Amino acid sequence: MIKKNVVKAKSTNKKVAHCPQCGPGRNADIRAQYKQVSDADDGAIEYRVLQCRGCELVYFERHIPFAPVVPEPGDLPLEESDHTDYWPAAYARKRPFWVMDFIFGSNLNNVLVQIYTALDHELHILAAIGIRTALDSATALLRIDQALPFAVKLEQLLENGKIGPDEKRQLELLTNAGNAAVHRQWFPEPEQLNAMMDIIESFIYRALVLPAFTSKLKKGIPKHQRKKKKRRSSEVKGGPN
Ligand SMILES: [Zn+2]
Repeated sequence: MIKKNVVKAKSTNKKVAHCPQCGPGRNADIRAQYKQVSDADDGAIEYRVLQCRGCELVYFERHIPFAPVVPEPGDLPLEESDHTDYWPAAYARKRPFWVMDFIFGSNLNNVLVQIYTALDHELHILAAIGIRTALDSATALLRIDQALPFAVKLEQLLENGKIGPDEKRQLELLTNAGNAAVHRQWFPEPEQLNAMMDIIESFIYRALVLPAFTSKLKKGIPKHQRKKKKRRSSEVKGGPN
């Protein structure tokens, strides 16, 4: 497709868009915009630099109108709608506050960042594999021997009181799902990935983040001051003699 000219899009200074940090349906100021038209009668692509009125993030939006094409025999049906994408990519899943603030002291932070980035870009298989890797990193932080088979690691977590029987079953499911993505060409659907994320986030929060917060809270509470006992009047006066 040859683009023949570039023109300024209709001038407005505000629009509703998907802020990568705040989510969909947010007001944004339009800082710059262009509309690019082509020889083919397939609509114009619009480009905008936007700034969120909530978090003030500056981001890029590209709007591609749906261009109907004559399908060839055997083609999959096309989704008949316009397409809008953003850079940075809109968050597919909101990050819990502790993901960016809490330093785990291992590669777990890096693994988590890569999982969320994979989710934002719809890289479902890589996200599923990353979730399995995050589980490994978290068990290492809980001082579980990494040479052990995974089933034994989960048994030890149960014995140490780090997880309960229900959570053990959930983590077994998570492990199987990660293995299926690696070895069995399993392509998880978004809602399946969401369930996997619910499990790993709640495990990491409860096993690693909450204990650190609890310890900090304990240190910050003032200690109970014991009242000094009143000396008996006889002691004050020097006794009965
Ligand atoms: Zn925002």
